[in-house]
This record gives sequence, C-alpha cells and structure tokens, in this order.
Amino acid sequence: MPEKKTDAPAATGKETYVIPSGNPTTLRAIAIALWVLAIVCEVVGILFILQKFDVANSTPFIIGALILDLILVVIGSFLWKRANKIDPPSEKNPVEFFIKTQLGAIVAVIAFFPILLFLLTDKNMDKKTKTWVSILAGVCLLAAVGLSYEPNPISEEYLQQVMRENAESSDFGANHVKWSTNSRVYHTWEDCSALNRISENNLRDGTVDDAFDVNKVRMCKLCAGHFNITKGVDGGKDSGDDAVDATNVADDAADAADATAEEEDELKAAA
Ligand SMILES: [Zn+2]
Repeated sequence: MPEKKTDAPAATGKETYVIPSGNPTTLRAIAIALWVLAIVCEVVGILFILQKFDVANSTPFIIGALILDLILVVIGSFLWKRANKIDPPSEKNPVEFFIKTQLGAIVAVIAFFPILLFLLTDKNMDKKTKTWVSILAGVCLLAAVGLSYEPNPISEEYLQQVMRENAESSDFGANHVKWSTNSRVYHTWEDCSALNRISENNLRDGTVDDAFDVNKVRMCKLCAGHFNITKGVDGGKDSGDDAVDATNVADDAADAADATAEEEDELKAAA
C-alpha cells in the first residue's frame, strides 16, 4: 500500500477524504469536449500566427485564442479531477494511473506548447510584439499545467480501502453492508431511514467489496453521520445530488435510494 493521499487534511490532523457529487461519466465527457475546443482555439491561434486570415492585425486574435484556450483547458481539468475523485482509476498499472490522473496537465502541454513554438519561431511579427505575446503564451502554459495537475491523486484501491475501514463497525457485521440497486451508496446502520425506504425488490446485501463491484462508491450520509465517519463520504455541499440520483433512477418513487439533505439535517438536529 503506497502512502495514503489525503484531500485537504483537517487542522486536527485527522485524515479526511471527501467524495464530491456528480456523475463521473458526464463530467469526463464534458471535460474532453472542453479540451477539444481548447485545442481548436490553439489551432486557430496558430493559423493567425501564420497569417492565414486576412486581417490587418493578428495580435488581438492570437491573444484571444490563448485566453480562451486557457479557460477551456482549466475548466476541463477541474471536471476531470472531480470525476477521478468520484470514480478513481486503478493504480495497478502505474503508467495508466499517471495518465488518467494527470491527463489535465498532459492536455495543458498539448494545448500550449505547439503555439508557443510557433510564436518563438515566427518571422512575421515585429520583435516587441513577438516577445510579449510569447511571454503571455508561456505564462498560459505554466498556469494551465499548474491548475490542471492533480496533487493528490486517489486510486480505486485507496477508495476500496476507505470503504472497508468505514464498514468495519457495520450493524450487519464487519465489512457487511446493504444497498439499493438504484443508488451509488451503501448502508451500515440498521435504523437508517434511507435504507428502510428501499423496497424489498431493490435491496441487496454483501461485503463492501461486493458493493464496490456494483458501483457503490461511498457510504450513505445518514449512516456516515451515525458512525461519525468523514472519510470518503459526500461533502454535502451539493445537497441536491442525492435527490437527483433518486429521481433519475427510481421507477418507483417510494424507493428513494438515498436520503435528502433535509432529512439529514433533521437527523443531525435529533442526534
Ligand atoms: Zn444509510
């Protein structure tokens, strides 16, 4: 087991790892679309450097392309990093793990290094303009790589480890959990109101590894609250997510797969 990576350790030194909300497939698709647009911006910028367009002054267009390129790369990378925290890649293959976790930084290089080379080797621009546009492109490259780099990559194995630790004190026996076929969470608390709303047909149980195999990636917030667990649990900032999960998947409205934020708050107040 490699050194554990933590996401913003708390001031107390207590290890925390919070899984953000969202659908990783959607997040990745949007990230890739934004990155493709970023590279289109770069190509357009290069065409302006090569004076392929009939404009009096190419410089504002080149600057515009650089700025737009930067914005698209960085937003794409934020979404990519978020998806990796929800659905982390396996670290069994170190090269693949590196590429998947640092893809944003790799794309940042692809989105800025070629245009920087074109600027540095350009013969058409006047020297002063060429110098400061090149500096701007260099700054964009550094900013894009810096903001796209993932300093705390999480692996699938680490997430599984967190899940096993969280399920140690389960009411259903160590490492045994229950889940609904309709949500991405598992339950460890017998009296959990979300668990007790799951219909008989959709209720499954097994080990935490079984749960992971069917894409249950985190503990339910109510169960986490009951067992005082913070690691690997949804931060709760996106309070709508669980409700959205439930509405997206529930053919049967009564089978709300997870608790809503309001319920969670009620429960906290009662505790
Ligand atoms: Zn629960």
